Amino acid sequence: MFGKKIFIALAVIVCLAMSAPQAKAKQDILFGGASIVGVYYQVALQLSNIMNKYEGDKYNFIGRPTGGSVFNINALERGAFDFGVAQSDRNWQAYNGSADWDGKPVESLRSLFSMHPETVMLVARKDAGINKVEDIKGKRVNIGNPGSGQRGNATDVLRIYGIDPDKDFRAEGLQHHEAARALVDRNIDAFFYTIGNPSAAIEEPATSVDINMVHLNSPGIQEMVEERPYYIMTRIPGGMYRGVNEDIETYAVTATVVTNENVSDEVAYDFVKTIFENLDEVRASHAAFRNLNVEEMLQGLSAPLHPGAEKYYKEQGWM
Ligand code: GLU
Repeated sequence: MFGKKIFIALAVIVCLAMSAPQAKAKQDILFGGASIVGVYYQVALQLSNIMNKYEGDKYNFIGRPTGGSVFNINALERGAFDFGVAQSDRNWQAYNGSADWDGKPVESLRSLFSMHPETVMLVARKDAGINKVEDIKGKRVNIGNPGSGQRGNATDVLRIYGIDPDKDFRAEGLQHHEAARALVDRNIDAFFYTIGNPSAAIEEPATSVDINMVHLNSPGIQEMVEERPYYIMTRIPGGMYRGVNEDIETYAVTATVVTNENVSDEVAYDFVKTIFENLDEVRASHAAFRNLNVEEMLQGLSAPLHPGAEKYYKEQGWM
């Protein structure tokens, strides 16, 4: 008798469960940033937050720390991520099959929009006596992990200054959070980094040790910048970081949000629409995003636009 009641109760529960409207499964969207202390990770986290706030019934955006630009472009090609942040120079090289992608162009790479400018920087511990690029000879300097964007910039700078990373100094391949720590702990004398300003990635070591920054503006650098459309000469204003009071002359790239042709038009459309409709929130979410504007966000894209993004930009009359 008792067993029969349980059976009926269970049957009722099963029927109710089957007739209840099923919540539509949300689509997980993986968004690759870079080192946890950098600005890219903030791009991935903040844009994910905005998507989950406004489109949370449809998507579950997840911002992930990664190895950086090169890692992200390769992960998008493999389908391991849906969106990622990458430097404009790396996008150009990937899509056109040069540098890390020599002879293996990433034809499936697609652009969405540009974010903040990133400066190429050589940051040294003040007591290391590195006042110009040549002073790194005989020193221990981080040039960046192989998946990072900065490693290619460091390699270009070294080539232009005629410095051999295999012979002239001890080159390290650390991710940036390790490099910042290593500078403070005196395990390295300087690091290269290509990053938006202001960034905790520089602010934090600068509060623990005295630092200086080196100008990267030789005629060779200026020539390279002139030749390539994705570089511009710029300066880091004095006072941006503790102990660096003069303007630092250097060059810059643009951080861009990229995807893959296999990501659906609907996902790309929903993403760019929501981000541009809430651009004030994006600007307020990190100091490096303060000056974002639509016009510049649609420039500097070297891979073709994803059709889902293009559809939204055309609807807005932006192209
Ligand atoms: N530009 C760096 C890279 O491409 C990342 C900088 C950041 O984390 O903000 O790897």
